[in-house]
Amino acid sequence: MSGKTLIRGAYVLTGGPDGALRDAAVLVEGRVIAAVGPYAELKAAHPDSAELGGPHDLVLPGFVNTHGHFSEGLITGLAEGYTLWEWIHALIDPVVPHLDRASAHMGTMLSGIQMLRSGITTANDMFCSDPGAAEPLTPGVVAALDELNLRGVVSFGAGDTRVRSVTAQLEEHSALLEAAEASRLSTFRVGVGAVGGQSEELFAASVELAVGGGHGVHIHLQEVREEVTATFQRYGATPIAHCAQEGLFGAPTLAAHCVWVDRHDRRLLAEHNVGVAHNPVSNMILASGAAPVMEMRELGVNVGIGVDGAASNDGQDMLQAIKSAALLARVHAMQATAMTAREAFEMATIGGARALEMDDLIGSLEVGKAADVVVLDGSSPTLANIHDPYQAVVYVAGSREVKDVLVDGRPSVANGEVVTVDTVEIAERSRPMARDLVRKAGLAHLSELAR
Ligand SMILES: [Zn+2]
Repeated sequence: MSGKTLIRGAYVLTGGPDGALRDAAVLVEGRVIAAVGPYAELKAAHPDSAELGGPHDLVLPGFVNTHGHFSEGLITGLAEGYTLWEWIHALIDPVVPHLDRASAHMGTMLSGIQMLRSGITTANDMFCSDPGAAEPLTPGVVAALDELNLRGVVSFGAGDTRVRSVTAQLEEHSALLEAAEASRLSTFRVGVGAVGGQSEELFAASVELAVGGGHGVHIHLQEVREEVTATFQRYGATPIAHCAQEGLFGAPTLAAHCVWVDRHDRRLLAEHNVGVAHNPVSNMILASGAAPVMEMRELGVNVGIGVDGAASNDGQDMLQAIKSAALLARVHAMQATAMTAREAFEMATIGGARALEMDDLIGSLEVGKAADVVVLDGSSPTLANIHDPYQAVVYVAGSREVKDVLVDGRPSVANGEVVTVDTVEIAERSRPMARDLVRKAGLAHLSELAR
């Protein structure tokens, strides 16, 4: 979309200081937001602009998905009834050695299509695998994101418990960095699978690469109690305290989960400005617990929402994750006031952008920011009566209401369909790949597809 587009809604939920605007519109010019204001005024000033949305639609900033794993795109809906460490042992460890660049590309396509259809415009990903033996795998992720027109923050979740070469891990990081630098929409972070998954040598190299190289970090921290116990026994510190001591937080850090965090851990997160990705659906599926989201927010920690991987959620639907965040907070606190719809909405947009330190570019509909915009269909019976626009988004809307999605000013979804790739052809092509992967991993007994 090279010219001007006016995106109209009954409400524009800016996610910025302007809050919710009625009968308003967003003017997109090229890649950026050029104006936000009353529809009638913008229409009069820009009569020739193309139009999206309509008088009953909801216009929102694109959702910022703060945590996921494109490495799991082909093993979704497989193996249930496990807690995290059991699940890693039963499903992830057998699959990882058989991933390659083609499956990285396909997994990203499948997950990315679902993300776009649920209004995600930025995906913060950690590709968890062994480094590619024949060729680096993770450039496949970046290629797929560019094809989909989905903004990415990409990382390789390094860990040397299986492949013990630190050099091989660093080579995968640098191949991903190179791919991200050449891409239009992706930026690189240093991935650390978990403190417990790295040798001291690799962890020191990760700190050096991130802090010395000026890169952000994406890490799992304190998802389950076992992780806290094991790291405490090894280092005499919780994973969060260990990262603080070793200097990892000298780089902008996004920590996934932070479920098992005590007062001391929470204070360290706030002091070091560590952003947190809250993943309510996978935390419930794996029975990991309920993260103390509101306690962290009260300390000033920037908390965003993540869908997590396609094997632990197992869907990639942001609207489900946002609703789950609001509901889990209530069940956890046993209080109906624990988290409002507006708070959940803000975590999914500007909160996630702040957690990734990208709030100068994305997360709200403000002049000068990237044109990452979502339109929800107000002509759908589901959204026929909008009494409160935040509750309409968080509790009422489903991905079926996602009508248009723009990323960087370009349409990725139009009339509810991903328009950048042939989604039917991708689904078709993925089946033999998923079947082969599950067979090679020795998990065919769990899969009707691969049996
Ligand atoms: Zn994860």
